[in-house]
Amino acid sequence: MHVETLGDGRPDYTIVACVHGDETCGWHAFNRFKASDMSVAEPVKFVLANERAFKLGYRYCDTDLNRVMPGDETSDQHEVRLAARLRRELEGTTVIDFHSTESKGCPYVIVTGGDDASLRLAQSTGLNRVVDMSHIGGGVTRHVTGVAVECGYYDDEDASTTAYRILLHFLAAEGLLGRPYARSTPEVYEVFGDASGQGFTFVAENFRRVEEGEVFARKNGTVRRAETDFYPVLMSTHGYDDRIGFKARRMGRVDEE
Ligand SMILES: [Zn+2]
Repeated sequence: MHVETLGDGRPDYTIVACVHGDETCGWHAFNRFKASDMSVAEPVKFVLANERAFKLGYRYCDTDLNRVMPGDETSDQHEVRLAARLRRELEGTTVIDFHSTESKGCPYVIVTGGDDASLRLAQSTGLNRVVDMSHIGGGVTRHVTGVAVECGYYDDEDASTTAYRILLHFLAAEGLLGRPYARSTPEVYEVFGDASGQGFTFVAENFRRVEEGEVFARKNGTVRRAETDFYPVLMSTHGYDDRIGFKARRMGRVDEE
């Protein structure tokens, strides 16, 4: 894990990149910001989370860091030990955690803590969609006020450009950077279950409602039909080994108080 702080003093904010070592958009966005002539009004911490996997170009070494919080320092698995250190590093700060993904429909926010503060923080990203994964578990922002952002399709340059744009907007909206911003009122998609299955081709569209009976995935002449209406989120053909993705319901917008 690599940690550095911009500005002097104890940071109230943490920018996290590479929880998944092969999702480098947050790392690029941070370096682009450092190389710019902009500076933050208050100290901000940057954490390159899974530095070992990042250097190897892997998603992870032993297990998915995003699934093993709060971790255990005595584990023989790299990511489980790392999770314990990462949790201490994030504690007491407000967090934005950058990811890229196999699934289409980016950019959007993911919250995991089921707390209002994190939902309100999502407005500072300027993005229009929030996926609430509180019922599923996982996520490194679960124990803090924090959001994860899915910036784009893996290591497309677009993902890094989007990550940079989101980073600037977030810092401005949180009062750390003197730039124009417009807090958004994102639509909330609450995940209530997953669509399991191996080797399926996802044929619907993320964030577009699938009606009861509609085909949303195919495999060798067989099809998967929706048993009830849902909104697909993080669904893709190759994203997961054992599932197509997640099913969500639309909950309305996060509004300014
Ligand atoms: Zn990720």
